[in-house]
Amino acid sequence: DKRNHIAGNCFDNKNHHGQLVHKYGPHYFRTNNVNILNYLNKFTEWIPGNYVVKSNFKNELYPFPINLETLEKFFNKKLTKKKAEELLNKKCKKIKNPKNSEEFVLSRVGEELYKAFYYGYTFKQWNQKPEDLAPSVCGRIPIRFNRQNDYVNDKYKVMPKLGFSEMFKAMISNPLINFSYNTDYERIRNNIKPKIATLYTGPIDAYFDFSMGKLPWRSLEFRWKTFSEEFRQPCVQINYPNKNRYTRTVEIKHVTKQKCPTTSISYEYPKENGPPYYPIPTEFSSNMYEKYKKLAFQETAKNNVFFAGRLAEYTYINTDQAIERGMSVYTEIINKIKIS
Ligand code: UDP
Repeated sequence: DKRNHIAGNCFDNKNHHGQLVHKYGPHYFRTNNVNILNYLNKFTEWIPGNYVVKSNFKNELYPFPINLETLEKFFNKKLTKKKAEELLNKKCKKIKNPKNSEEFVLSRVGEELYKAFYYGYTFKQWNQKPEDLAPSVCGRIPIRFNRQNDYVNDKYKVMPKLGFSEMFKAMISNPLINFSYNTDYERIRNNIKPKIATLYTGPIDAYFDFSMGKLPWRSLEFRWKTFSEEFRQPCVQINYPNKNRYTRTVEIKHVTKQKCPTTSISYEYPKENGPPYYPIPTEFSSNMYEKYKKLAFQETAKNNVFFAGRLAEYTYINTDQAIERGMSVYTEIINKIKIS
């Protein structure tokens, strides 16, 4: 790893105040795949994932993702599931196959809710209009006609009891695994002689010397503030779809359940340069990635180099999906070696 620690962006540690924090932004572990959970059970115990998010619109907090309560508060009327569906049916734009994130949201909730909760947040987060982003970006957020207020829909929502870093530490505590810190792959690639295969998880464009161009990434800056009170905000995350420069504030204690008399909040400021956090799903970037994918395919066939993960596959996936990919690439490697 390039960095001086394990666990990638899932890294969590105790800050100067003894508070367990997610250094690179919140990781709300969730999955529908029980096999992943069974596998990770070997390395950690779990606590329930309490992922509640609210959105700050005109200085009022609304449940987010949009649910029945959000709609009642926003339109200032009592609603049943049926009435809410009828209301949104009137408001939403009739677009059969949304081609971008704007069309996706307009086709689900209409103009007012789009402008209130999505447009400002998305523009800040990506520095792109929702109309230029793939529908899957805003499509990550469910829209509900009940009162459920979890941020995600997945069946299992859990957090490693002692944190992610401890889970990954247990995962690599095998004498057959050597780990090098502060080690950039670019610096050592010519000196490593893989016995079987290489699994590369860094940015794919860097692997190929940017020969097809530089893939665009969105980066983040985290600014931290500590408060002398047990909790500062009512839930783990508050979104700001407004003019503030930060997109969200996160008080991870709501999820880690750590007992501590003080608390810290991270303010997330999206930015252009810096470590790569998010691939930017536009037409331009997916065309460029397709070219790298072809090179990767040849490299796998020729030199047994496998590419997996957010950076190496230029893909916007969650932690469980990254682990799932780790498991599938393992099978790919084993199968290829058996054949050759
Ligand atoms: N989004 C939004 N308003 C919000 C939260 C999210 O418009 O209050 C959009 C935004 O474009 C964001 C995407 O939905 O990038 C996915 O949100 P998610 O919270 O899943 O992003 P992540 O946690 O991966 O940063």
